[in-house]
Amino acid sequence: MKLLVVGSVAFDAIETPFGKTDKILGGAATYIGLAASVMDVKSGIVSVVGGDFPQTDLDMLSDRGVNIEGIEIVKEGKTFFWSGKYHNDLNTRDTLVTEVNVLENFDPKIPASMQDAEILLLGNLHPGVQLSVLEKMEKKPKLVILDTMNFWMDSALDILMEMVKKTDVITINDEEARQLSGEYSLVKAAKKIHEMGPQFVIIKKGEHGALLFHEGKIFAIPALPLEEVFDPTGAGDTFAGGFASYLAKKGSMTFETMKAALIVGSAMASFTVEKFGTERLQEITADDMDRRIKEFKELTTFEVGV
Ligand code: AMP
Repeated sequence: MKLLVVGSVAFDAIETPFGKTDKILGGAATYIGLAASVMDVKSGIVSVVGGDFPQTDLDMLSDRGVNIEGIEIVKEGKTFFWSGKYHNDLNTRDTLVTEVNVLENFDPKIPASMQDAEILLLGNLHPGVQLSVLEKMEKKPKLVILDTMNFWMDSALDILMEMVKKTDVITINDEEARQLSGEYSLVKAAKKIHEMGPQFVIIKKGEHGALLFHEGKIFAIPALPLEEVFDPTGAGDTFAGGFASYLAKKGSMTFETMKAALIVGSAMASFTVEKFGTERLQEITADDMDRRIKEFKELTTFEVGV
């Protein structure tokens, strides 16, 4: 199956307790596209960059099999820029700068070559843009996956709710799930979010893993305990990218397949945090993924006699 990705392609400047970067390659769609390439899944990105965006980065994505026909280049514009600083525990960060730039007036265009994508992954962007991409697909995709954040709950709740209604799988973090539902218990929050539209609700809990809810069933996974977390930027996007790519590869969207997809997303995200930005994701191979998934299995499999 083909995966169509919508999201930012950006410059990021990141500061962690371990160092800081100047403007480096970032953006939700970039992480997702790279995750798809590691999984050897056909993907395409719909996004926009400015004339300041390096051709070498576009070539890198294209060389890795990501269809970049849907990345518009506004020659006289500037690429979206985000800057963030992590606190010592790496669980929280402050956004220092968000320059929306060319994303401000983004009118997404889906290339003909991606119109037949079966899975649509709407990466973190204005929900109005996410909705317009769904509406512009000539054939309704088999699965719509939505990633969103509290920023849109605060600034564009009505249109976000419209988007959520048309979503099959939503991925949000625990605090955002609480904000969206008004419930503290994540079980109750997931129930309320189900009622808003999505049959599948994934709640990410950072270093504590993730939960998948579907028709009264719950599946939980931990995050792989890592010796070193260097830069958490993009972990959520990589998780969503790994998750969606696994479904695309298997051509299946059942609860059982999603359980495995959750592991793949987590394993992939555990690589992203090991180096700055997309660096680690650009290095890893399918063999690296296999090894890490085995580590996950060992971490979570046990027998108990009662
Ligand atoms: P994550 O760490 O998974 O939340 O994702 C970080 C990525 O999201 C960075 O590479 C940023 O470029 C991108 N990003 C941050 N804020 C926004 C926003 N408001 N809209 C779109 N992309 C964003």
